[in-house]
Amino acid sequence: MKRSYLFIFVVLLASSLSLAQVQIEDELYSSVVGIEGKTHQGRCEFIKNQLHALGVGYVAAPFNHIVVNKKDTTMTKGENIIVRVGAGTKRIVVGAHYDAFGESPGANDNGSGVAVLLSLIKQLQDTVWNYSVDFCFFDLEEAGLLGSDYYITQFVIPQRHIAMINLDIEGTGEEVYVGPVGSNSQNIMRYVHEAAKQTGFPFFESAEFPASDQVSFEKSNLQDIAVSIVPKGDAERLSKYVRNGYKADSIDTPKVLGVMHTFEDRSRLVSPASLKMSYEFTKTLLMLLNESGR
Ligand SMILES: [Zn+2]
Repeated sequence: MKRSYLFIFVVLLASSLSLAQVQIEDELYSSVVGIEGKTHQGRCEFIKNQLHALGVGYVAAPFNHIVVNKKDTTMTKGENIIVRVGAGTKRIVVGAHYDAFGESPGANDNGSGVAVLLSLIKQLQDTVWNYSVDFCFFDLEEAGLLGSDYYITQFVIPQRHIAMINLDIEGTGEEVYVGPVGSNSQNIMRYVHEAAKQTGFPFFESAEFPASDQVSFEKSNLQDIAVSIVPKGDAERLSKYVRNGYKADSIDTPKVLGVMHTFEDRSRLVSPASLKMSYEFTKTLLMLLNESGR
């Protein structure tokens, strides 16, 4: 190849690579914009419409959560949305809750996790899976991890469970925060470490991690790990906050706590680059797990 041609080839290759990077950021961010501020039902419909547009099949798994009190009985209706791909008897679960807290627009909590899950489903459509993989959009996390609890009852066979990866709070900062590290993550951590090495992202792991749907798996003694992207220093602050019994006084308050569950949790505070970090890290981890199943 003549040198001038080689030069043009390299420039074209580099620009198409960076274009792909920008496209994935756009795709992730537009999902956050699409889901934020919607009603509970609207968030559910948004996900179904996105999957429909992708031509991806899903199972809508409704559940009724009934609480019997002394004086009355309350019933809460929820619905998990599950995209099942792959093959084999062993299963990996990747989850993100789609409900938002109260009247919060829920962009980072957890439109960000939903966005990453949607892009993983879209971008990994041609993957040859060595495992069965359930991509789960969990409902009613904010009401007490109800969706993930029902999913386990309805769909998990413990002997066939490999790992659950939880995505909640993925949209701000530049630090990968992983936890809770412990006996329920022992089968996954070497792949997590390899993903950290391959991506080269700033990484912090801890035994303490704020409660989200991974806790449902933890309680059932199933392997699980949660991945968040947070502002610099927040991983350590959040870890201390959990160790302190979820009390922020007397410690340096984690930055993410100032926004989540409030009216300020909007897409204008969400960074496409943070979403991409979560996407890249989780994709790398998933591919490493998938390789291990060969
Ligand atoms: Zn959340």
